[in-house]
Amino acid sequence: MLGVDIANIIRRDMVAHAFLIVDGDDTLWENNVYFEEAIEAFTDFLAHSSLSREQVRATLDQIELLNIRVHGYGSAAFARNLRQCYERLAERNIRKEDLDHVMALGKRIVEQPMRVLAGVAETVAYLAGRHELTLFTKGELEEQRLKVERSGLGPQFDRVAVVAEKDARAYRQLVDEHGFDPARTWMIGNSPKSDINPALQAGINAVFIPHTHTWRLEAEEIPGADGRLLVLERFSQLRDHF
Ligand SMILES: [Mg+2]
Repeated sequence: MLGVDIANIIRRDMVAHAFLIVDGDDTLWENNVYFEEAIEAFTDFLAHSSLSREQVRATLDQIELLNIRVHGYGSAAFARNLRQCYERLAERNIRKEDLDHVMALGKRIVEQPMRVLAGVAETVAYLAGRHELTLFTKGELEEQRLKVERSGLGPQFDRVAVVAEKDARAYRQLVDEHGFDPARTWMIGNSPKSDINPALQAGINAVFIPHTHTWRLEAEEIPGADGRLLVLERFSQLRDHF
């Protein structure tokens, strides 16, 4: 019981001046839901006679995992993955117009509306007055920059960094480059794989804010965090801690 009480006291303490690193996709704005919609449309179009939707999805996951290393993230890479999946699974003659259609399902993701998540704009403005904020996102540089611009949140951040992969090395580099004090540095995000686990591995703290539509390839167990992990339901709850 004592342990629980102490944990609660620590968690209620406001962190004075902190270095907050904030994820973009599915933390500040909707993102993966658009990929999910494209995959649904792709699966409908493929209309496979024997594979279940889940089996089609598993094939696409496999292709995505292999190609991330070469092509990275983003809608253009995703469109190519859809095409490759279609080439592998289609049961009819592969026509150019069908491949174009499949590619378009992926590419049109960049044209989807920018939807900043509830409570984010006010909370970011509040945090910006108190802490040093870094927006840290992975993916294709131009695509991510465009999202930051369309979100209108850019000016609240002290800096925006876009990297190919958010692994422990990328976090260490960011922390070193800007001289963040690890004990006062927190990574805030929705992805165990890209936000929480690599940040904890790099020796900083983390705030996990799960999102219902997190990409399934971002799922991962979060091992014990020695009191360096805070889990919140909503972005606006950051105000209670920072
Ligand atoms: Mg994210």
